[in-house]
Amino acid sequence: MKRKTILVIDDEVVNLDILSELLDRFDVIDVTSGEEALEILAKEKIDLILLDILMPGMDGYEICRMIKADKSLRHIPIIFITSKNDDESIEHAYEIGASDYITKPFRHRELLARVGNALRIQELQEELRLLASIDPMTRLYNRRYFTTMADKILKLARREHHPLSLAILDIDRFKQINDTYGHQTGDRVITALSEKLTERYRESDLLCRFGGEEFVILMPNTEQDVAVLLAERTRKEIEKLQIPYGDGAVSMTVSIGVSQVDLEGEETLDPVLKRADDALYAAKNQGRNRVCTPLDT
Ligand code: GH3
Ligand code: MG
Ligand code: MG
Repeated sequence: MKRKTILVIDDEVVNLDILSELLDRFDVIDVTSGEEALEILAKEKIDLILLDILMPGMDGYEICRMIKADKSLRHIPIIFITSKNDDESIEHAYEIGASDYITKPFRHRELLARVGNALRIQELQEELRLLASIDPMTRLYNRRYFTTMADKILKLARREHHPLSLAILDIDRFKQINDTYGHQTGDRVITALSEKLTERYRESDLLCRFGGEEFVILMPNTEQDVAVLLAERTRKEIEKLQIPYGDGAVSMTVSIGVSQVDLEGEETLDPVLKRADDALYAAKNQGRNRVCTPLDT
């Protein structure tokens, strides 16, 4: 299993040394101020924070409040480790979002046990978040996840000047497949298609089941003409799929609309989705089983 990374924030170097040694089964990053901590949090993936309260500059409470106010950081559990052991201080820490509170001097084994607990809860929460992002039938991401990730991926592409393309894929005359072979077979058709997409597309591509028999593929670092080639290759392979039915087999075709983000002008994916959807509509109109781009609309 991957080693967890713990960020320890304490203005006293002796404390940092003791904690680093104690937490030797984890990757420990130690800093002596809130400012440094925020810098680390901006670039490293941190699994847990151990936080002192009394520090010059930003104190522990202030750091905790800032982290809990940041949408991309608030899921990180914070354990206060402090010599302040009055009820008000403890109550206040929990009020502003602390996961746990340990007073100094602490018992080493107890601290390790509490760190272990916080990390386990954190893992379970991550699993839950993942489950809420996945379509159970196809194991692909759902529309909700796409919506939360799309803007982040677009921002990254803009910052790094990487092309970003998007494809919308829809099964042709799927209603007819359902009507002819039954809904269960229809489900198997969707599953087979999803497996093909997972096999064909790269790890870095975001594959989503957008609706019933409609899929969206977001391709970082990909120009539109490359996305069209990929779509064309995928379309041909889908056409060859044989989904067993009785003594025979069912097959399907798909239509695909492809579009590219204009990195200069576009700040959301909505217009790109719209163009790809119009291209998909054109593909349907021109006879289905084909790939279209905005040039075809
Ligand atoms: P077109 O080529 O224009 O896309 O025609 P179509 O028949 O594929 O399009 P339409 O949107 O009319 O029909 C989609 C059908 O997909 C209707 C709906 O009942 C079915 N469907 C949606 N989700 C599922 C699912 O999870 N399983 C099954 N078996 N069918 C589904
Ligand atoms: Mg369809
Ligand atoms: Mg449809």
